[in-house]
Amino acid sequence: MGLLIRAGLLVGVILLSSCATRGSQSDERLHSTLWVQTSAEYAVAAVQVFALAAAQADAAMNDPTWTALPELQGPGPDLPIAVIADVDETVLDNSAFAARNILLDRQYSGETWADWVREGAADPVPGAVEYLRWLAVQRGVTVFYVTRREASLEAATRANLSRHGFPLSDTEDTLLMDYEQPDWGSDKNSRRAKIASRYRVIQLFGDNLADFMDIPEGASPKERVRLARTAEHMWGSRWFMLPNPIYGDWEAALMDGLDPAKEEHEALRRKLGELEPT
Ligand SMILES: [Mg+2]
Repeated sequence: MGLLIRAGLLVGVILLSSCATRGSQSDERLHSTLWVQTSAEYAVAAVQVFALAAAQADAAMNDPTWTALPELQGPGPDLPIAVIADVDETVLDNSAFAARNILLDRQYSGETWADWVREGAADPVPGAVEYLRWLAVQRGVTVFYVTRREASLEAATRANLSRHGFPLSDTEDTLLMDYEQPDWGSDKNSRRAKIASRYRVIQLFGDNLADFMDIPEGASPKERVRLARTAEHMWGSRWFMLPNPIYGDWEAALMDGLDPAKEEHEALRRKLGELEPT
C-alpha cells in the first residue's frame, strides 16, 4: 500500500476514533475487542500462557520421548527440536483491525483483512516475542508458524513478524501458509505432519481448537468441548491456548452454517438462543 493511502487510512481511523457517535453502540464485538485492547487481564492471561510453556521447556527438550504430536511424530530420539505456533491472535494481535471494523460499522471481509495484513501493523501478543526468541536464540529450537493466512500474504506476514523480532529461519521456510503447497489445505494437520516428520515438536500454541487437532466439519459447540477434553493430558504441558474472545471457530460452531457478516439479525438471534440462563 502506498504511503499516502496508508497515511490517509490512518487519519480516517483516528478521526472515526474521536467521534463517539460512529460505530454501532450495540456492536457485539465491542466488549471483546476492548478486553483485548485495554485490560490488564488479557495481557496477564497471554503472558501466563508463555510463562507456563517456558517453565516446562527444558524438561521437554531433555526428554527424548516428549512430543506434542504423538500421532504424527516421526521416529528417532535425535531429531532436532521445534515448536509450532499459529499466527493470528497467538503471536500477532489483530485487535486493531477489529477496532477499525467496529468504528467503520463494517463486517469482516477477506478484502479488508488482506489490506490489513499487507499494512503489517499487527502488534505482538504479550509474552510471545520474548518466549519464542529465548527458545530460538538460547536453546536453538526452530520455531514454525502454521497459519490460515493465504500464501499470497506470506511476505507481508514475514515482514510483520520480523519487525517485532520474532525468530524466522534463514535456511528454511518456517512460515507455512494455507495452500502454499499443493497437498496443504486450510486444515493444519498436513503441515503439522510435515514438520513432525523431521523435528520433534515439543509444544503447540494457538487460539483455536483446530490449531491443535483436526475438528470434523460442522462440529457443534458441545462436540468441540468434548473433543478438547479428550486431550486433557496435553493442555498446559504440550498444548497452550491463548485467549481470543473476538472471533474463532467457536463462533462458527454457534452459527451452524450461517454467515454472521451477511445475516446479522439472525446471527444475534441464534446467539441469544445459545445462552444458558439456568
Ligand atoms: Mg489464530
